[in-house]
Amino acid sequence: MNEIGELFFSGKAKDVYSHENKDYVIIKFRDDITAGDGEKKDNLKGKGECNSLISSKLFEILEENGLSTQYIELIEPGVILSKKLDMIPLEVILRNIATGSLIKKFPFREKQDINPPIIQMDFKNDEYHDPMLNDDIIIALEIAKKEELNQIRKITLKINAILSEFLKNVGVLLVDFKLEFGKDIMGNITLGDEISPDTCRFWNITTFETLDKDLFRKGEGDVMNVYREVCKLIVSEEDLKRWGIEPL
Ligand code: UDP
Repeated sequence: MNEIGELFFSGKAKDVYSHENKDYVIIKFRDDITAGDGEKKDNLKGKGECNSLISSKLFEILEENGLSTQYIELIEPGVILSKKLDMIPLEVILRNIATGSLIKKFPFREKQDINPPIIQMDFKNDEYHDPMLNDDIIIALEIAKKEELNQIRKITLKINAILSEFLKNVGVLLVDFKLEFGKDIMGNITLGDEISPDTCRFWNITTFETLDKDLFRKGEGDVMNVYREVCKLIVSEEDLKRWGIEPL
């Protein structure tokens, strides 16, 4: 049984509920979308369901490749049963191609290939506006230990290799993405949160068209239409059948 317990955390786009098994949580993806430190807001009907399907599929691929994630199962569109994690307040960003804030802050060229990729860690803290950190600051603030940072970097590179390959095969270029990690009940570093067009830059591999939240940030095009297209590219009809969901 997956009865939803009490709401104990509400983020910008997801709610987290307790589960009768205290080691689990139920994550509900909402239709809210925000940008610019939460200043720009909207509600896109169907976005929560769409992102939950994309994230479920990508987490399943990572699990199949031996990575430890928070994901247990998709209960229904928009609702995921997950392991409870003690979250580490880091936004772990990996960049394969220079764009966005990177080219504003540093002299990279737009669309410049970055190989080996850059891993950047920002402090997940609204009060301080998510500043970029370095290892010494992370360690001094006791956010994570040196060995844990090395482990997080290794896992992040592996995730990049696995997802870049999968996405390339469905015509999507993985430009950059943000991950969040936590510790499971055994204290193991585990991938949490979501992987979706809200947290990644996805470009059409041939046209370099934007297929992610940048459309919302820039106020361009029909954001939900593009999210649905991305969902169809990533989630197959067999996946939907396996999850017991009607075709999209
Ligand atoms: N990102 C995210 N949440 C954040 C910050 C960044 O999901 O709070 C993702 C973003 O979607 C992109 C990548 O991390 O895929 C790098 O973002 P960047 O630092 O370039 O941010 P931006 O230019 O959007 O400010």
